[in-house]
Amino acid sequence: MQQTYDAIIVGGGLVGQTLAIALAAHDLRVAIVERADPDAHLAPEFDGRASAIASSTARMLRALGLGDVLDSQGCAIRAIRVTDGLSPRHLHFDSAEAEPAEPLGIMLENRVLRTILLDRLRADDRITLFAPATIVATDRGADRSTVALADGTVLQAPVILACDGRQSALRQEAGIRTARWQYDGTAIVTMLAHEKPHDHVASELFYPEGPFAQLPMRDLPADGEKPARHRSALVWTIRSSDAAGVKALSPRALAHEAEKRMGGFLGHLELIAPASSYPLGLHHSERYWAERLILVGDAAHGIHPIAGQGLNMGLRDVAALAEVLSSSARLGLDLGHPDVARRYERWRRADNFATAFATDSLARLFGVPGKAAHTIRSTGLAAVNRLPPLRRAFMKVARGEAGDLPPLLRGELG
Ligand SMILES: Cc1cc2nc3c(=O)[nH]c(=O)nc-3n(C[C@H](O)[C@H](O)[C@H](O)COP(=O)(O)OP(=O)(O)OC[C@H]3O[C@@H](n4cnc5c(N)ncnc54)[C@H](O)[C@@H]3O)c2cc1C
Repeated sequence: MQQTYDAIIVGGGLVGQTLAIALAAHDLRVAIVERADPDAHLAPEFDGRASAIASSTARMLRALGLGDVLDSQGCAIRAIRVTDGLSPRHLHFDSAEAEPAEPLGIMLENRVLRTILLDRLRADDRITLFAPATIVATDRGADRSTVALADGTVLQAPVILACDGRQSALRQEAGIRTARWQYDGTAIVTMLAHEKPHDHVASELFYPEGPFAQLPMRDLPADGEKPARHRSALVWTIRSSDAAGVKALSPRALAHEAEKRMGGFLGHLELIAPASSYPLGLHHSERYWAERLILVGDAAHGIHPIAGQGLNMGLRDVAALAEVLSSSARLGLDLGHPDVARRYERWRRADNFATAFATDSLARLFGVPGKAAHTIRSTGLAAVNRLPPLRRAFMKVARGEAGDLPPLLRGELG
């Protein structure tokens, strides 16, 4: 049972699935292998997170025909307010000042994005999904790669695209080293209903133990007797030693703690989803490829969620790789040739490194305890706030608009 494709994607997370759809949109035939049951990944208890989809990434999803879900279920972030704790001095980013004048991002539940991606994968006859499937062997030879599955199926293609996440077995097998460290931080993630509207404003409040982010979500519609309710996602970083204690709090107590940290600006809060926790770390691979293997998304890099950029980086990898592979295929080149992989790496490495560096610096800067550090940070935020060109430059980077954008990030199929 040998089957031949243009590329084999290993890992059907958000990055792997989007990559499959992007390659198929460029008429490449792909196999995607996922070890878990993808329908089980749609359960709210599997991933209760929501992601901030940056404007360039949103344009790519629209170009791939996934725009409806952003319009019908996403919530536009029109402004971001950054403060050092509850200091009145702040930095305010407003989409009205940004160019192009699009929202700063769109908040969408990961589960909703997974659902639409899976529907699209299954409907596209250029994509073959193997899931749940166990890989028993991989071989990367001089002229092709093969992936053998436990049921006896053997897949072959010029190149394997590793989208198998932070612990990527393919990366480790290829001997690609990573720079990595853990933060003394764990993100507590949950969903809140609140009394006052969020007005599409996201808030990032920095505390010495880590950032506390409130991210606007679409209101919960009225349900029978229950009226419509305002809603936000919460990503609250705490010291890892406190994680077990915070997770053991009752929903009411956790909502009360969140309310204190927010200074009550959204009024009374109620937890409307179970809290889950994620230990936080950074890793960056020394190279993004080996013979007939290319790393994509968290398999190549992972960062602190302080600025909501991890998935966006992975999806920017997807846009660049789709362009590199499809243009190489049009020229009849071997998709597993090192020159093809090098072109992708050159395109993505600087942006990924700069984003990892910036988020790491932010996490450290705001982690310095003490009154003097607090005063310096608050004054710094207020100073940047008075400099519109600098604010616009920050917004451009956060929206993924900086640098040489591949066609998909400009909203074109190329
Ligand atoms: C608390 C938190 C909040 C975040 N918020 C944001 C945000 O707002 N915006 C943003 O841009 N990013 C955010 N991120 C980052 C983002 O979630 C990740 O970068 C992104 O989900 C990575 O996707 P991925 O597909 O590369 O990896 P993964 O999601 O890890 O997927 C890897 C897939 O590969 C499969 N797999 C692994 N090994 C094998 C194998 N051997 N065979 C077959 N399949 C295999 C796994 O089952 C899995 O499905 C956040 C992260 C955290 C922790």
